[in-house]
Amino acid sequence: MKIFNTLTRKVEDFIPYEEGKVKMYTCGPTVYHYAHIGNIRNYIGHDILDKTLRALGYEVTRAMNITDVGHLTSDSDSGEDKMEVAKKREHKTAMEIADFYTKAFFKDFEKVNCKKPEIISPATSNIEMYIKMIKKLLKDGYAYESGGNVYFDISKLKDYYVLTNHQEDSMVVGAREGVEEDNNKRNQADFALWFTISKFENHELQWDSPWGKGYPGWHIECSGISIKYLGENLDIHGGGVDNIFPHHTNEIAQSEAYLGHKWCNYWFHNEHLLDESGKMSKSNGAILTVSLLEEQGYDPLAFRFMCLNSHYRKQLVFSYEALKQAQTTLNKLRNRINNINSDGELDNEFYNNYNQRFLDELSNDLNTANALTVLYELLKDEKVNGTTKLKLIEKYDEILSLNLIKKNEIDSTLQDYIEKKIQERSEAKKNKDFALADQIRNELLEKNIIIKDTREGTTYEIKE
Ligand code: AMP
Ligand code: ZN
Repeated sequence: MKIFNTLTRKVEDFIPYEEGKVKMYTCGPTVYHYAHIGNIRNYIGHDILDKTLRALGYEVTRAMNITDVGHLTSDSDSGEDKMEVAKKREHKTAMEIADFYTKAFFKDFEKVNCKKPEIISPATSNIEMYIKMIKKLLKDGYAYESGGNVYFDISKLKDYYVLTNHQEDSMVVGAREGVEEDNNKRNQADFALWFTISKFENHELQWDSPWGKGYPGWHIECSGISIKYLGENLDIHGGGVDNIFPHHTNEIAQSEAYLGHKWCNYWFHNEHLLDESGKMSKSNGAILTVSLLEEQGYDPLAFRFMCLNSHYRKQLVFSYEALKQAQTTLNKLRNRINNINSDGELDNEFYNNYNQRFLDELSNDLNTANALTVLYELLKDEKVNGTTKLKLIEKYDEILSLNLIKKNEIDSTLQDYIEKKIQERSEAKKNKDFALADQIRNELLEKNIIIKDTREGTTYEIKE
């Protein structure tokens, strides 16, 4: 397996600490709002990596946090806690907010067939672990108390910027948007491990600590959860590219200072999904979610398919045009697969050969687009019988997770959408707005839904 490692900025052979076993950590969502489709793209990337490693025979243990405390509106210890912002917006308690958006997150996560990590842990469940780490960092001189808070002193490390090309200069106040002067810090790039008294004094979630009642900084939670559940040696740690700095940089600093040795060997980062305005955000109100796409008549797996057609290290721009195209191609692909007759005996030679080719593409830094090309070649290959093809596709789909061996179906969400559209169309016809009626028919057709007007009313079916 070859994988791009942000730490070395190279595609490298993957060698885990322990032969045959992989410990993998994925930064989880901040549950103060819905996860947008950009966040979900990131988890699809992690899902493909996880499933590819398993298909290659590794025993994978994967952990993910749920950020329900400590993530501020700016990554540099300034701004408000995102959960506090959500509480004001929705007039709920922090735990009600976290509970609601955690459920919403996993609903969308599962709609795109992402497999849940073995360990999922909310930040608020591991406070004792952060306190234990911070105590040791203080004792060993890597951290200091100032103005009531505890900070990590980055000047104590040889190479704090190991993961990035950042220079300290770019962190000086004013040079980088979002960096505010914090007079408590010795170096402006120092980061908070624990907040007590500060401008966040009204924070709802507070715990007793040796430094007074307070709450943890955002970065310590991922180090704490990872070390607590996966041990001192981590093989892969991942997130989106925005996590490289400061989040993962800070995680390396505090984890290695705490452990006294190297912590994680491979850093895996997914590029962003952008919208046409250039940035997808969940703080600006209008959030495009997987559930919303489904309510608009799209198959969530068409979104997954769209992501798999591009490389995880390339930016991808979301557009409805591209999604429609993905939906049409995926429906055609499923129809083709459903027309394969399972004739003949399993041909082991073809099976092994095609399986290897597919895995080779994924083992090459997760080249999902090329893996899909192998699938298309298999479908075209007249020398391979139906039984062998179907067995292979079933195997491929353990990783692709596109429900390839399932007939295109109209589920209840799609049914609601179609019925709403048919209703709108008959209203339009009643008002003699035939242009709108045609537009609605075409909109449905683009999603492979054919409607027919009969004497009994309008019926619909999926285009084969
Ligand atoms: P958050 O819920 O904001 O903590 O983000 C969850 C994950 O989604 C993080 O690992 C981010 O790096 C990642 N992420 C945020 N925005 C995007 C985006 N537009 N495209 C892909 N991944 C993203
Ligand atoms: Zn994290």
